[in-house]
Amino acid sequence: MDIRTVGVVGAGQMGNGIAHVFALAGYDVLLNDISAEALEKSLALIDRNMERQAARGKITPEEHAAAIARIRTTTALPDLGASDLIIESATERETIKQAIFEDLLPHLQPHTILTSNTSSISITRLASRTDRPERFMGFHFMNPVPVMQLVELIRGIATNEATYKTLLGVVEKLGKTAASSEDFPAFIVNRILMPMINEAVYTLYEGVGNVRSIDQSMKLGANHPMGPLELADFIGLDTCLAIMNVLHDGLADTKYRPCPLLTKYVEAGWLGRKTRRGFYDYRGDEPVPTR
Ligand code: NAD
Repeated sequence: MDIRTVGVVGAGQMGNGIAHVFALAGYDVLLNDISAEALEKSLALIDRNMERQAARGKITPEEHAAAIARIRTTTALPDLGASDLIIESATERETIKQAIFEDLLPHLQPHTILTSNTSSISITRLASRTDRPERFMGFHFMNPVPVMQLVELIRGIATNEATYKTLLGVVEKLGKTAASSEDFPAFIVNRILMPMINEAVYTLYEGVGNVRSIDQSMKLGANHPMGPLELADFIGLDTCLAIMNVLHDGLADTKYRPCPLLTKYVEAGWLGRKTRRGFYDYRGDEPVPTR
């Protein structure tokens, strides 16, 4: 199937990266958010990030201008009905995602493929509540989208081969690499990554190390490019907690118990970089550990 117009729901850190790479790859992008301010910020950020890519010689100024011209923003979800492909990338909460798909359904074309960028929620369950479970897939991008090479493709129990092949083609056109995952909680990357981050928070909670020593240990001792707490701040602590809850509920194993300290940071609204405070405080010139 030929995909030309792509609707992106949610203009947060992921939605803006997704709009960025699709526009650069030549797709017309309709970017939606409930917040007009989020849309404004997102478009400005895409422009800045493309400018940086142009300054580094990764794209030409003409490609930058053409890509920006391909992105339209709207707070009206029905406007996305004209899309060939929808990528839902709103807040990681099942009720929110479900309501978005419900609101979209009456406006879609029969051929429109629905996808979710969810990090952990069951694709089969999200798909089952739509009128097209065979044209529904998990389309999981990594953060930051313009930089990260991998895209996880998750087939729900009903997803058909044509939909899967179409998305494989899209990933190729984006210049990225697809990995297929079965639809089980948190798929592949987060099934492995999140318990590691959660364990790092337990290590902090139990006083085995402090923020700096934990991150330094994993960077220098395990050759990770970022420490686990630094990475958690980057992903968003609310997203990390949501994924741990999905693993805990979905696999019913106590080894996925979210660390109470992670819950406390989320309750405080210290969600990481996006709120300028998490395991580090980003309000000054240099990140300062909060513990
Ligand atoms: P975010 O908090 O940065 O952005 C979420 C956006 O969704 C916000 O702008 C919010 O206004 C918007 N939103 C909320 N309800 C909406 C609605 N009903 N309609 C339209 N927009 C709505 O979150 P994020 O980090 O961009 O995560 C988005 C999705 O991507 C989540 O499902 C998350 O699991 C997934 N994801 C996140 C990462 C990561 O590293 N942060 C990586 C891969 C996938």
